[in-house]
Amino acid sequence: MKDELKKELYIKFPNIFPKETHAFFSHGDGWFDIISSLCDSLTVISESIGIGITALQTKAKFKTLRFYVDIDTTKATCDEIKLKTWCDIINNLIRWTEIRSFYVCEMCGSISYGPPQPSHYCKNCEENGKE
Ligand SMILES: [Zn+2]
Repeated sequence: MKDELKKELYIKFPNIFPKETHAFFSHGDGWFDIISSLCDSLTVISESIGIGITALQTKAKFKTLRFYVDIDTTKATCDEIKLKTWCDIINNLIRWTEIRSFYVCEMCGSISYGPPQPSHYCKNCEENGKE
């Protein structure tokens, strides 16, 4: 992902992408929107109940996004039962975003409504990439 998009995520989500870890994004620009949308949700949860969520790495693997995080519950403000449910919600949000990436071109971000493509890229990007 190009530097200006990385920088935008670092500035918008300083808690998820702290300077000392600065998760690298080893994939194309097309997944910027779904990552940003995921981080909006994670930030609301994090700020509401005091769970620390830090991205360790984002990359493309087996044609989909992988979003690896560290979850710190030591400062959580809810009870154990709710905490477990919140952690499930966090993991489900991440998993859902990873599944979504299957239908979003990694290069240009266009959405495919058909069956998943045999590559990370939409037809247009794949053809242009071959030229
Ligand atoms: Zn594309």
